[in-house]
Amino acid sequence: MSKDLKFLQSAFALAQIWSKDPSSKVAAVAVGDTPNLVAWGYNGFPPGIADTENRLFNREVKYSLVLHAEENALANATFPVRTLYVTHPPCQGCALRILGYRSVLRVVCAKPSPEFQDRWQASIKQTLALFEEAGVEYEEIDLWNSLPWTQQSPVP
Ligand SMILES: [Zn+2]
Repeated sequence: MSKDLKFLQSAFALAQIWSKDPSSKVAAVAVGDTPNLVAWGYNGFPPGIADTENRLFNREVKYSLVLHAEENALANATFPVRTLYVTHPPCQGCALRILGYRSVLRVVCAKPSPEFQDRWQASIKQTLALFEEAGVEYEEIDLWNSLPWTQQSPVP
């Protein structure tokens, strides 16, 4: 199994284990110059902000408080991140933060489900344009047909 697949699968496992979001489980694995330089993050409220059901099950409140997996993985990294593996394509806001982090050369994510693609098409398009302009390599790996359990991944 390639390193890309291992890190991407690790992101899916982390999302399922750690994300408290009832509808959207997202995680990111940030890797530095060598594969032992690893930091990770998942979508969730910042440290000190309680994961109450009132907040988690109210979509509007949840979106206003949640930090995305990519932001958390970059915040946790204490080394220059070169590759970021994400369970889902980054939103435009995360794409900007990834560029702002300055060291990321490559973003790898799972090819999204058709439902996800439909729903987030505009945001994904903006992300791709930003990465292309800034010279960040972007790759989608098609896990959906090879790993049956990834089909369980919920759509936000
Ligand atoms: Zn995002």
